[in-house]
Amino acid sequence: MDETAAGATPKAALTSVMALFASAGPGGLVVRRLLPAAVGALVVIVFLRLEGPQLGLYGTEVEILLLTLAAGGAIAGLLFYFAFRLDRDEAARGEAEGALRRSSRYFDLSSDMVCTAGFDGVFKELNAAWTETLGWSEAELCSRPFVEFVHPDDRETTEREATGLAAGGVTVNFMNRYATKDGRWRWIEWKAIAILEEGLIYASARDITGRKAAEAALEASERQTRQILETAHDAFVSIDADGLITAWNPQAEANFGWSSHEALGRELAATIIPEAHREAHRRGLEHFLATGEGPVLGKRLELTALHRDGREFPIELTMSDLETEQGFSFNAFIRDITERRASRELLERQRQQLIEAQSVGGFGSWEWDLVTGTIERSDELCRIYGLEPGSHPGSVEAMAPAHPDDRARWQSDVQATLESGAPLSIEFRIVMPDGSVRVMHSRGELVHDEHGTPLRVIGTTQDITERHELERAKDEFTSIVSHELRTPLTSIRGSLGLLESGVLGELPAQGQRMVEIAVQNTDRLVRLIDDILDIERINSGQIDMNPGPCDARELIARASDAVAALAAAANVSVLIDAEPVHFSADGDRVIQTLTNLISNAVKFSPPASSVRVSCSRRDGEVLFEVSDEGRGIPAENVETVFGRFQQVDASDSREKGGTGLGLAICRSIVDQHGGRIWAHSVPGHGATFSFLLPAPVGDVADRGPST
Ligand code: ADP
Repeated sequence: MDETAAGATPKAALTSVMALFASAGPGGLVVRRLLPAAVGALVVIVFLRLEGPQLGLYGTEVEILLLTLAAGGAIAGLLFYFAFRLDRDEAARGEAEGALRRSSRYFDLSSDMVCTAGFDGVFKELNAAWTETLGWSEAELCSRPFVEFVHPDDRETTEREATGLAAGGVTVNFMNRYATKDGRWRWIEWKAIAILEEGLIYASARDITGRKAAEAALEASERQTRQILETAHDAFVSIDADGLITAWNPQAEANFGWSSHEALGRELAATIIPEAHREAHRRGLEHFLATGEGPVLGKRLELTALHRDGREFPIELTMSDLETEQGFSFNAFIRDITERRASRELLERQRQQLIEAQSVGGFGSWEWDLVTGTIERSDELCRIYGLEPGSHPGSVEAMAPAHPDDRARWQSDVQATLESGAPLSIEFRIVMPDGSVRVMHSRGELVHDEHGTPLRVIGTTQDITERHELERAKDEFTSIVSHELRTPLTSIRGSLGLLESGVLGELPAQGQRMVEIAVQNTDRLVRLIDDILDIERINSGQIDMNPGPCDARELIARASDAVAALAAAANVSVLIDAEPVHFSADGDRVIQTLTNLISNAVKFSPPASSVRVSCSRRDGEVLFEVSDEGRGIPAENVETVFGRFQQVDASDSREKGGTGLGLAICRSIVDQHGGRIWAHSVPGHGATFSFLLPAPVGDVADRGPST
């Protein structure tokens, strides 16, 4: 029964009647039409019943009429009832249709993918979101079992989930991958329920591919961060706002002796901070949390840390703060700088030792930066130059000798080092601030970058004034003695020669041998004295160089002739490779130089090897080179061998019959010509002696060979 008509209070019944009357439905229409007629009939019946007899309107017709009216009333009542039912059913149907229309709108409008599927594993109905997400039409999705759209790796779990649903289960947050029409995969998250009576699964699904990708990216980045921290060479430590350790990487374990298992959750201060600094750390943390002020945050600090075994060691640390939903945390990279500090201290000690050594040895060091053109000088060097230590004029000119006579040579020697890369070794005079003149000896070496570009020259300068004075005095003495010896020696040699030749009579065999030895040694002594006098005369300018037209090839030929007998005796071949270079020089002196170099090369060559002599024209210069395949010269001697009486090995003079003056004479001759001489050697692989003499193009080159 309907509740409106039956179970209601009179008031409610009246309300529903009024509603029916006002209703736009068919019931309302019928009621509105019939009600006036029913009311009219009722009025007529009541009137006839009350007034009929008095008016004589009562009888069979009236009875029939009354019955008819009563029947009409009953019919009207019934009609009223049915109209009422009709109207209510119509309203209910309309409402149901409205609800259906609304839910179908929700179904279509939902951005989630909504669907029903049968227990046969096939979709029955899908909303538009499915096509939007996967690209398949509804018909395509409903044409085959849904599991066929699922990624092969997810099929098993999908089937298990569907079986569970069919058995009355509920699916929440189940995930699988669905194929899109263009061949890709999308991650779908499901909520579903099965209605067993309907044989249908109702499901709502959501495309979570983006979320999955973001989660994967986050996970990868977290993994990467973890890996970085685990393999970092620095210790990484985090603490929370309470100062408790929340991160502790393997390097932290190694540095501080606490395993991560032990360290996590411990108070940082009590773990790695020496007792004396703990309070300061705690106060700093409190201060930051209260005020936001952290003066040490983000700065590189050098502190002392505590190892688990009680040992304290220096660390370098940078700390930063991070505020998250969980509150503040502080992260720090910590480096054990024990070794660095030790090497810094060692370096400082060595620097001090170097300063002391420089001051004791009376030499200073310098570094000339070729890029900026500035020169760095040690304090001792400043002292040597008579300047205040620490006064660094910065320009290379500060290194240049102030003595005008030496300036040009100084510049050309430095230039030559820069161009050829040969070691620098120059003696020059400087005028001190008090006007006195002092002699300096600078040595330097060129430093290149990896492309061979010269970067700087580093070297030392020593005040050799006293030594120079001594050497001068010694030379003077030697020269005087030599002069005094030369004349009696010549006469001794003459007498011995006469004795040896037998002009004065036959000597006994033993006497003859003794005289021969005496002749050999006297010759050696004469050579030595000649060399000493020679070098003395060249250096003191007593011997003027007599320049004249020279042909380099001819000079080489004459020099090699002079050593031909020596070469033959040593079984060494002298090979000549000379260009026809014409230039102006003192030919005899150049031959003397070449003879010296070639005879040295022959002396130090193994039998059956070759000595090569070459000459070629360079930019305004002629280059002579003499190379051999002998034992070579150690790097530390390539420069010193040009000094007087300098020999690589003390036995050289005995075994090879040298005086140790040959190369010094060569250098003097070359210097007097304004040239340069140097040696280069790879020990064990021979030596090359080179010298350059000025040969300006067009000087004598066009005049043809000299006679
Ligand atoms: P010496 O009269 O002793 O040869 P030098 O001044 O000519 O004097 O040479 C000095 C020293 O240089 C030699 O004693 C030798 O030790 C070394 N020297 C010179 N030339 C060569 C060379 N071609 N190979 C190896 N060492 C050499």
